[in-house]
Amino acid sequence: MTEKLLLRALKGGKNTRIVTLNGKRLTKMPAGLRSLPGLKILDLQNNLISEISVEIKNLTQLRTLNLGNNCLNEVPEAIKYLTSLKQLQLFENNIQNFTSEACDGLQNLNLLNLNNNKLTLLPEQIQRLSNLRYLSITNNKLIRIPAEICFLKNLSELHLNYNQLSYLPEEMKCLKKLQKLFVVRNKLEALPEGLCVLRNLRVLDIAGNLIQAFPQGFQKMKLKEFYCEGNPLFLRQPHKALQENYVFTLQEITARFIMNKLVAKNPFLMKAIEWYPLVKDKIAQARKCAVCGKSFLTIWLECVEFVPPDKNWKISGNLKLVPIRVLICSYMCFSLRNPDIFGIAQV
Ligand SMILES: [Zn+2]
Repeated sequence: MTEKLLLRALKGGKNTRIVTLNGKRLTKMPAGLRSLPGLKILDLQNNLISEISVEIKNLTQLRTLNLGNNCLNEVPEAIKYLTSLKQLQLFENNIQNFTSEACDGLQNLNLLNLNNNKLTLLPEQIQRLSNLRYLSITNNKLIRIPAEICFLKNLSELHLNYNQLSYLPEEMKCLKKLQKLFVVRNKLEALPEGLCVLRNLRVLDIAGNLIQAFPQGFQKMKLKEFYCEGNPLFLRQPHKALQENYVFTLQEITARFIMNKLVAKNPFLMKAIEWYPLVKDKIAQARKCAVCGKSFLTIWLECVEFVPPDKNWKISGNLKLVPIRVLICSYMCFSLRNPDIFGIAQV
């Protein structure tokens, strides 16, 4: 019956550009597809197809493939032959496996929709989809996303709502063209600092996560819309900080001494540091005190600063102040902090 339907759909004969077999209860892809090398659009959504057959090998002109709402359980290697494909719809299947080889031939793909599947991981090779602009993997079981996703230099929209993500990679800072990011209802405890440097990001929705405070620089983002309801954000209320001084380790004292000398461009240390790559690496991990601006390495006080959101942000209803995570180098600086900075009680 599949073939009869295909024949009926092929009124245009061999030059057929579009085939639509939507909701026909097909259980497999029609074999006759292989004789349609000029096909541009293939719509097979709302069927019962469980496998992408090798027949698609010949469809090298295909621009749009819609296999939404079928019974596929993987993104198979065979997809790689669709070298002209721009849009791939695979939403509402039973996909648990994304074969890394599938990414080999999809260099023209700009839209990939994998919503409502069962993916837990994505292949690192997703980086090869170099023209991808829109990626949606809402309502899957993702436990992490590979850092390689951040090297999709054309990506402008990323939808990751309703997954199990507990963090986003620091490499997010490489997504220079990202305009919209949705990570609603995951398990994020923090956002990567790298996110704050994304100059093109306009919409950020992280509602329903486990975030208490935002990274330094967050308040300067050029967002237009920001949604964060349903997170246990710190509220502005005094936290009692322990009033005792740390005893700094010798390493910390030395590191602070060296770092301050380097900031002051001490010529002897500037030269000497080049001989100690290990020390240099260590110092590169230094953080800056939010009060005195000096560097420190391993010991700090974690605080939160409450900052009014940018007036241009369209924002979740009741958010008056955005909690920003700040680090302070010592109790001395803590006692000099501005009144919007609060200590975080360590439990
Ligand atoms: Zn300080």
